[in-house]
Amino acid sequence: MDFVTLSTIGIRVMAFLFGAVIGSFLNVCIYRLPAGESLTKKNSHCMTCGTPIKWYDLIPIISWLVLRGKCRACGSKISGRYILVESLTGIMFVLTFLQFDVITDGLIYPALLCLFIAGLIVIGFEDYDTQEMTVGVLIYLGIVAIATRLLTHFLPTHIRGCDITFTDGLIGLFAVSVPFLIIGFVITPLVYSFIDEDRKSARKIRKRLRTQDLDKTEERKLEKALEKHLEAVKEQKPVFGFGMGDVILMAAGGLMYGWKTVVFAAFAAVILGGICAIVLKYRASHSYGKDVKAFAFGPFLTIGLALSSFFGTQLMDMYINYVYTSTHLI
Ligand SMILES: [Zn+2]
Repeated sequence: MDFVTLSTIGIRVMAFLFGAVIGSFLNVCIYRLPAGESLTKKNSHCMTCGTPIKWYDLIPIISWLVLRGKCRACGSKISGRYILVESLTGIMFVLTFLQFDVITDGLIYPALLCLFIAGLIVIGFEDYDTQEMTVGVLIYLGIVAIATRLLTHFLPTHIRGCDITFTDGLIGLFAVSVPFLIIGFVITPLVYSFIDEDRKSARKIRKRLRTQDLDKTEERKLEKALEKHLEAVKEQKPVFGFGMGDVILMAAGGLMYGWKTVVFAAFAAVILGGICAIVLKYRASHSYGKDVKAFAFGPFLTIGLALSSFFGTQLMDMYINYVYTSTHLI
């Protein structure tokens, strides 16, 4: 084996090991950030017995396998999530580096992509667990995206490593985030105000209070009912709608990957999310009779972004090409 092949393999192995170590830290972020706990203060400890975990039981992937997913002190189960996140991060880092020839493209752009993917992994799991995204991680993604666009804009071409232009990123910033903003904050509430029972009742009561001449007891009764409906409206989460987190995530994703990738990611996420919703609904209606709860859309968006970061631009180019040639054939 010659030197170039050997060093390329070496870099990929390093990327996996480094990814696994980062994944170990991401696990801490995923558990502690939504709870508002400090990332640095406490040492790792068993979730069941509280025993501090020794350094040799903190080796990414390997420790979990050696302990077979059980605490050394009390034998209680350690979540498979740990090894999942560690190996996922390792694999994503390798896949990122596979796209580049580090010797000609330089290390900067692949490294920035890895930093962004690390944030995506945290956001995805956080949103899956809690249906919320931590503001800090969204800001982190935004900063990585801005830094990437600025660095790749001003770096000399031969070490830039990416062909996404400043304009691509700028269009990407708005390409999906703005439609999400309109759907989430204009269309969804509007549709809901027409189909939701609580909202309809609230509107009717308000109208009665305004137009009819009521005595004091009746008025108080209606006001109480109105309050109850408004409370119910406040508590419900839209089944299909985008939150501010989704909007910011797609803005950062667009700036990072360019408009083609982020548009592809949004389509991929909607399709994946739709399939998942149908499966959940089918299972709920056939076996357990459980109600389908509103589920977070963020994990699908992060999967869409991560997947399309590898081949989204090429697929969108193929699609655009296809549309272009088929419309010009007629
Ligand atoms: Zn324990």
